[in-house]
Amino acid sequence: ARKTNVWTSEKVILSPYHDVEVPMTTVHEYVFSKLDKWPTKTAVVCGVTKRKYTYEEVYRLSKIFGANLRSKFKIKDGDTVAIILPNSPEFPIAVYGTMTAGGIVTTMNPVYTPYELQRQIDSSGAKLIVTHPDIVPNVKKALELAKKDIQIIAMNFEKPAPVGTISFKDLIDEVHIDLTVLNEVKRSHEDVALLMYSSGTTGLPKPAELSHFNVVANCCQQDTELRQYSYTTESHQDTTLVVLPMFHAYAFSLQMLHKMSAGLQLVTLPKFQPESFLNTLLNYKIDLMYLAPPMILYLGSYSEVKPKHLEHVKLMLSGAAPLPSADIQKMFDKAQRNFPFRQGYGMTEGGPLVTIMPTDIENYESVGYLLPNMKARVIDSHFNNLGPDEVGELLIKGPNVMKQYKDNPEANKESFVDGWYKTGDLAKVNDEGLVWIVDRLKELIKVKGFQVPPAELEAVIKEHPDVFDVAVMGIPDRVTGEAPKAFVILKQGATVTDEQLISFVSNKVASYKKIKQVQFVDSIPKNPSGKILRKVLKEMYLN
Ligand code: AMP
Repeated sequence: ARKTNVWTSEKVILSPYHDVEVPMTTVHEYVFSKLDKWPTKTAVVCGVTKRKYTYEEVYRLSKIFGANLRSKFKIKDGDTVAIILPNSPEFPIAVYGTMTAGGIVTTMNPVYTPYELQRQIDSSGAKLIVTHPDIVPNVKKALELAKKDIQIIAMNFEKPAPVGTISFKDLIDEVHIDLTVLNEVKRSHEDVALLMYSSGTTGLPKPAELSHFNVVANCCQQDTELRQYSYTTESHQDTTLVVLPMFHAYAFSLQMLHKMSAGLQLVTLPKFQPESFLNTLLNYKIDLMYLAPPMILYLGSYSEVKPKHLEHVKLMLSGAAPLPSADIQKMFDKAQRNFPFRQGYGMTEGGPLVTIMPTDIENYESVGYLLPNMKARVIDSHFNNLGPDEVGELLIKGPNVMKQYKDNPEANKESFVDGWYKTGDLAKVNDEGLVWIVDRLKELIKVKGFQVPPAELEAVIKEHPDVFDVAVMGIPDRVTGEAPKAFVILKQGATVTDEQLISFVSNKVASYKKIKQVQFVDSIPKNPSGKILRKVLKEMYLN
């Protein structure tokens, strides 16, 4: 039963759920702690190639991979391994293997350009890279830019490992490897497990340090009366589609870590491609769907989507960006039936899940209640706590909230106030503790749920010799949610056109970060220390 009085006299909002105990263990130990209940069930299968692994296999191959990392690649406790992969059934093996070897996992978007990869390879301090053969050329260019010589392991199931890389398949096929090297590993629950990139409230993407405890806590917080799936038994196994990218906190934690700790079957798709997406829904009778808003728009509006595709869905969850309610109705019209649809809300720094709507309340707009063990505040611009239904910035606290941004005291000072993490989101919370996300206060742009930090695009545009100054902001977009728009001051006598600037940026960033519009302006409002006043800019040019 949920508590009803969640507001304290100091206007701190408590979770309506009872606290859960979080074991002091590591992520891989936690995920495999119930392994003996479902060793022969399929853990993960690729919806396209049908390549699959049972739970026992994922566990065994992770250990073999981990032992290889220690003995052949000299990975030590606390070394970082970069995983740059599309979704695949081997993704979890690479992750659990790295952690088993005492390493820290950092993930990168496989569609990144060499420039984007280089920045993240540099700032994460990665000692080894695990990637797909198709991405090897970009990784090599990134290493040239970074002037680094780092070994590359290639996931060579569909294609051979390119020259100069090491075959992942050969590594995990090694039956005679000495697993006792893993006995040297000393990792505690307080050590960093994951470096996940996020721009937070301002600036460039930064590595958020999530400890084993943070990540395990977020799994435990969901594994309560909030649970929206069944544990696997001899005769039943829920199946979840992993089409959101596993390199992002949402699918990484909510699906890969958490659902594997409960023995579910994961069906991975390397990318969102309508035909394979719809076929997979049919072939695997998918019952749990974790999606981002553009996919819900797709399901509701494309003629190839038929009721049969959604026939098996028991629960659909949306997160990562705001969702227009009209899109949900269209999706139900397509399905010709209603099924539980809920929103969740979170962020990379929150491990990631912060709130979720329970299945007994049918409300599509609110993002639900705080998870167990969490607290929140809604504040005004003077840091005063606001009351029920008042709109202000949401601050959160809980065992799932990251330790800190790595090597970045300035960002840490800006993001935490007395141990509360500033989400940069505008929210309101009602009397009972239900949360609504009203708007985004932070400068971050979200395109299809992906982070597009304006500071990153501004830095790229400033590299153009004709540009004197620039500010980038998000504008609403029907399909992608938002799209980046650049306000540019040209140097005197400059001749560059908007199209030329757009293509200049396209060559340097992943395609979802492309600038959609350029507007040439005479001034960009700034404060005395040179920080762009984005609210003023919005009023000047967008309203
Ligand atoms: P990320 O770290 O990429 O997961 O981005 C986190 C941000 O995405 C949050 O701070 C919100 O601004 C936004 N977000 C996540 N979930 C939702 C949601 N359900 N509704 C509105 N915005 C969301």
